[in-house]
Amino acid sequence: MNVAVVLYTSDLRVHDHPPLRAALSSCDRVVPLFVRDQAIEESGFGAPNRRAFLADCLAGLDDALRERGGRLVIRSGEAVPEVLALVREADADEVHMAAGVSAYAHAREERLRAALEAEGRRLYVHDMVVTAVAPGALRPAASDHFAVFTPYLRRWTELPPRAVTAAPRALRVPGSLRSDPVPERAAVTGISPGLARGGEREGRRLLTAWLRAGVDGYHDAHDDLAGDATSRLSPHLHFGTVSAAETVHRARAVKGPGAEAFVRQLCWRDFHHQVLAARPDAAHRDYRERRDHWRSGGDAQEEIRAWKEGRTGYPVVDAAMRQLRHEGWMHNRGRLLAASFLAKTLYVDWRIGARHFLDLLVDGDLANNQLNWQWVAGTGTDTRPNRVLNPVRQGVRYDPDGAYVHRWVPELAGLPAPRVHEPWRLPAAERARYDYPEPVVELADGLARFRQGRGSA
Ligand code: FAD
Repeated sequence: MNVAVVLYTSDLRVHDHPPLRAALSSCDRVVPLFVRDQAIEESGFGAPNRRAFLADCLAGLDDALRERGGRLVIRSGEAVPEVLALVREADADEVHMAAGVSAYAHAREERLRAALEAEGRRLYVHDMVVTAVAPGALRPAASDHFAVFTPYLRRWTELPPRAVTAAPRALRVPGSLRSDPVPERAAVTGISPGLARGGEREGRRLLTAWLRAGVDGYHDAHDDLAGDATSRLSPHLHFGTVSAAETVHRARAVKGPGAEAFVRQLCWRDFHHQVLAARPDAAHRDYRERRDHWRSGGDAQEEIRAWKEGRTGYPVVDAAMRQLRHEGWMHNRGRLLAASFLAKTLYVDWRIGARHFLDLLVDGDLANNQLNWQWVAGTGTDTRPNRVLNPVRQGVRYDPDGAYVHRWVPELAGLPAPRVHEPWRLPAAERARYDYPEPVVELADGLARFRQGRGSA
C-alpha cells in the first residue's frame, strides 16, 4: 500500500483539484490534510472574518471528502513539523500541494521539500491550482514578470487553458489517523454581521447562478455601487472553494461582453499573483520607489480613525468603509475610492490602509490587496500613478441616485442625490437636520492641503 498526503492551503475544494487528482493516480490511499498554521494566526493574518469563512470551508471540505469515503485530517501548529509528523504516522511516500506566491508560501515549500527529501520522500508542488495561469508561465523578453497589465492580458488570453478536472468519485484514507475537530464558525468572535457563507458547495452555487443570470450585464453594471452587480466570488477564489481555472473556463463558454469583462478581472487576479510571486517584498515595500513621505504617525491619527470608522464626512467614502465593516467585503469601486481617499487625498501610507482592509476583508489576500493598494497609491503597476479619485465626482458618477450612500449612511437617508454627495454645501439650517460629520479635510479638486498640483478623476 502506498500513501500520499494532500496538503490543503488556499485550495479548499474537491472539484478541479490537480494535487488531489495526482495523489489519487499514484497512490492507493490519500490523506487530505489541513494545518491550522500557528504562524499565520500569530501574524495577525487570521482575522475573524476569514477565520469564520475558513471554518465553513473546512466543514464543507470534510463533508465532500466523507461523501466520497474519505475525510479531512486537521492538525494545528507549525506547518512543516505538523506535515512531517503526519507523513511519518501515515508512512506516506509523497506530499502534494498547490504552489503559493507569497514569501511565506515559498519558504514553507522549500522547508517542506528539504525535510521530506531528507527522509527519502517527495514533495510535488502543483501550479494552476490557486491561479488560472501559473505565475512565471508568462514572461516578457527582458524581465521575470509582467509589470504592466495590458501586455500580460494579451499573452494570458492567448494561452491554451489547462483542462478542468472532475471531483474524484471515491478516496480511501488510512483509518487510524488522529484529527483535530473541524473548527466551527460559531466559535469565532468579532465577525462582521453580514459576512457571507463559505464552503465549496456555496461557492459552486454562486458561480453557477452568476454565470446563468449575472455575468451578461457585468460590463455595464460592474461599477454601479448600489447595483451590486459583481460576482462576489472573491472569498471563494481566495480560499479556493471555487477554482480560478474552472471559473475562466466556464465564463469563456458563456461568451459576450459581460463574460469577457469578467474574465479580464480574473486576469487581474493572476496578474497580481505573478507580480507578488516575482517580488514577494511588494507585500510590504513600494513596488516602484517614488520617494513619497507618507503621513503615518500622530499627525494623521484623527483622519485615519475617521476613515476606518466611516465618518470622514465624504458620504461615498463612509458608505464604502461601513460596508466593509458590516459585510467584511466591499464593492471594487468602493475599494478604489476609499483607498484613493486615504492614500492620495489624505496622503496616508498605503500600508496602513492595506492592513485595515486585511483586518476585515473576507477575501483579504496578500497579492490582490497589497498590489491593488499599491496601484491606487501610485507605487504599484498603474501606468498613471498620479491619478486621484475625487470622492464627490466618484459618488455622483457611480452612485447617481445616492442609493449606496442611503444604504450604508442612514443619517443621510432623507437627502436626495446629487446633494447627498456634498452635504456640507447645504444651507446651515438644513445641514443641521442631518447628524453627519463635517469633512475631515477640505478638498480643492479632490486634493487635500497635504498634496497639491495633481490631476483628479
Ligand atoms: P468581480 O468584479 O466579480 O470580479 C471577479 C473576480 O476577479 C474577483 O472575485 C477577483 O478574484 C478578481 N478581481 C476583480 N478585480 C480585481 C482586481 N482589481 N485585482 C485582482 N483581482 C480582481 N480582491 C481580493 O480578492 N482580495 C483583496 O484583498 C482585495 N483587495 C483590494 C484592495 C483594493 C484597494 C482594491 C482597489 C481592490 C482590491 N481587490 C481585492 C480587488 C477587487 O476589488 C475584488 O476582487 C472584488 O471587488 C471582489 O468582488 P467580486 O468577487 O464581486 O469581483
